[in-house]
Amino acid sequence: MTMSTPVNPVEIARIALKRLTERGLPPTPDNYTQFYNAILTIKAPETKTATEMQLAWQVLYKLDDAVSDTAELTSSLLDNLASSSSVFEQKLGDLQQVRQAHAEKSVSPEETHASLEDMLNVVISTTHNVHSTVTTSHSDLQTIRDSIRHIEEDLAFNRKVLEQDALTGALNRQGLDHLLMREVKRAQRIDGRLTAAIIDLDDFKQINDKFTHLVGDQVLIHMTNLTKAVLRESDILVRYGGEEFLLLLVDTDVRGASYVIDRLKLVAGRTPFIHHNQRIEVRFSAGIAQLKDDENGRALLLRADEALYRAKQGGRGKTEIAE
Ligand code: GH3
Ligand code: MG
Ligand code: MG
Repeated sequence: MTMSTPVNPVEIARIALKRLTERGLPPTPDNYTQFYNAILTIKAPETKTATEMQLAWQVLYKLDDAVSDTAELTSSLLDNLASSSSVFEQKLGDLQQVRQAHAEKSVSPEETHASLEDMLNVVISTTHNVHSTVTTSHSDLQTIRDSIRHIEEDLAFNRKVLEQDALTGALNRQGLDHLLMREVKRAQRIDGRLTAAIIDLDDFKQINDKFTHLVGDQVLIHMTNLTKAVLRESDILVRYGGEEFLLLLVDTDVRGASYVIDRLKLVAGRTPFIHHNQRIEVRFSAGIAQLKDDENGRALLLRADEALYRAKQGGRGKTEIAE
């Protein structure tokens, strides 16, 4: 699957030149083309896709329904309470008149009794009305609360979908953003260690060319599964670019990260992807960097990326560690 998002070529050209300068490389057509293409395969994290917008609208509509239901309900409850209160007020006035008439002995005890009974009946039936409206409102509110809980679950699910790479199921770069910030903060707060390893599959273009893009996709899924198998539950796997993966290893130093990468190399070597009885072996280069004090996530990834670049320059299949 190609990650085709509408991108601004001028912006890509600008980033490509910046990356060349950062690495002290001459802007020869070859270098420039290589960087331009590499950047093109990386999905911009801030681009909102059509599906994303659609999902957001669906949730908004649902929320709008729930809010207007609540508004209708509370307004009918208020009406009912207001009319009951005026009935009570009126009956209180009647009661005072009856009491006065009774004191002045202008009515017979039977008449007083009859009007009191009459008033009491009205009060009881009004109270009944209020009680039944409140009960209905209570159950309606419960229903609305349930739908809001569903909306929250939908939101959490949509967020998960939006932060996942559709092909491999690894996290995408959008999903990385807040996790990276969280992990960097956590590592700095508890004096923990955090190490980033970026791997880039070697000569992946040749796999596509030789076996088709569709098989290339399968190989990417295969690599994701192998990587997940060597990671711990708390580690984070991100599809960082077309054929690049970022492993964010929590509570791990450079030594631990090197061990993980070596293990992945071993596992990938032993478990080639089989296509029509043909073994497709996947090799990769890796760059490792451990979080420094007072370093932010971006700087950490940049150092891992630079180390990866050195690994590629030093021949393929190597691992380099940022100093
Ligand atoms: P290198 O060893 O220098 O990394 O060589 P490479 O061929 O792996 O790197 P290059 O950057 O030249 O090419 C990357 C290739 O990855 C080209 C691009 O078509 C392919 N690719 C990127 N995303 C996908 C994808 O989703 N599916 C498939 N099948 N291929 C992809
Ligand atoms: Mg690459
Ligand atoms: Mg590659």
